Amino acid sequence: MKFNTKTIHGGQEPDKAYGAVMPPIYQTSTYAQTTPGGHKGYEYSRTHNPTRNALENGLASIENGNYGLAFGSGLAAIDAVIKLLQPGDEVISTNDLYGGTYRLFTKIFEGFGIKFHFIGMQNAANIESYVNENTKLIWVETPTNPMMNIIDVEASAAVAKKHHIMLAVDNTFATPYLQRPLDLGADIVMHSVTKYIGGHSDLVMGALVVKDKEIADKLYFIQNASGAICGPMDSFLALRGIKTLHVRMQRHCENGKAVAEYLAQHPKVANVYWPGFESHPSHYIAKKQMDDFGGMISFTTKGNNYDKTIKILENLKVFTLAESLGGVESLAGHPASMTHASIPKDEREKTGVVDSLIRLSVGIEDIDDLIADLENALAQ
Ligand SMILES: *Cc1c(COP(=O)(O)O)cnc(C)c1O
Repeated sequence: MKFNTKTIHGGQEPDKAYGAVMPPIYQTSTYAQTTPGGHKGYEYSRTHNPTRNALENGLASIENGNYGLAFGSGLAAIDAVIKLLQPGDEVISTNDLYGGTYRLFTKIFEGFGIKFHFIGMQNAANIESYVNENTKLIWVETPTNPMMNIIDVEASAAVAKKHHIMLAVDNTFATPYLQRPLDLGADIVMHSVTKYIGGHSDLVMGALVVKDKEIADKLYFIQNASGAICGPMDSFLALRGIKTLHVRMQRHCENGKAVAEYLAQHPKVANVYWPGFESHPSHYIAKKQMDDFGGMISFTTKGNNYDKTIKILENLKVFTLAESLGGVESLAGHPASMTHASIPKDEREKTGVVDSLIRLSVGIEDIDDLIADLENALAQ
């Protein structure tokens, strides 16, 4: 089955009770038993729920995995992965990591004796130089937020395989429409379903997909034992989101390219960070591992003026000033004062998060309206 068919049919079958084409929202915590242990595969909804299972099967299908697990948020999914580890274990991750992941690693799991190395991952040899006998996990995020750096998943997988370390990839920005990490050698794919997979800014959810049964069984155990599951209503919404992922992503990519090219020629714009440009330092890796370049773009304006940047954001009308990304509507954010405000100014500037940096999640509206909106906001 091709990807554009899997989004609609992958892992799905009509409901067994009445043939409903969409799985019903099984809004139930428990299931009747005829005799102790006599049930139809469902005992309690923390462990299993038919609506969540339908979503998990769909997620496994679109990521070319064998097992899917859905959680109450992206961070809950990451939390489950780190619980595979023990005190004394070490993790290698990128120095340009999603802020919430960084906070979870440093403020929660360092306290439980797990050690994290946040390093430049553009070069796989640098990853390998941090490997020792305690290294159990490599955690990759690509493209990164908000600087749109690209990490080579295949090269990271080669290091992981050589040293018998697990490789997990946060595939939130790319989605399986653009990039399938399990096919590139990763062991675990993670998603903030909140973003492109949900796609409509109406839920918070996370997911993991794996190929290997042993890892899946451990993760299912953690999912049930720690209990950070998502509810049946949200599972239904996420599954509905998956069904249009390919058409939404196609338009996100088209609009993203047009916006990136528009910004690149604008006289007030200094830099545009988008992996589709040949001038992007990792364009060749993006081209190798992604089928297109997506709708996430960051840019700076000349003069790097904080107040003028705030004015641009306030003057946007079609782009909504908000955190998050990946919905049908276009969003704009100011990393320096929003998502990255807790990082000291000189620290964040080292990674490129300067005062004039604006991050766009380009939606699927008419491109003419998006360009006109940017034109107007930049003119003032
Ligand atoms: C949003 C996000 C997360 C966290 O997901 P939540 O659903 O907000 O918990 C993790 N990684 C990336 C890249 C994200 O954008």
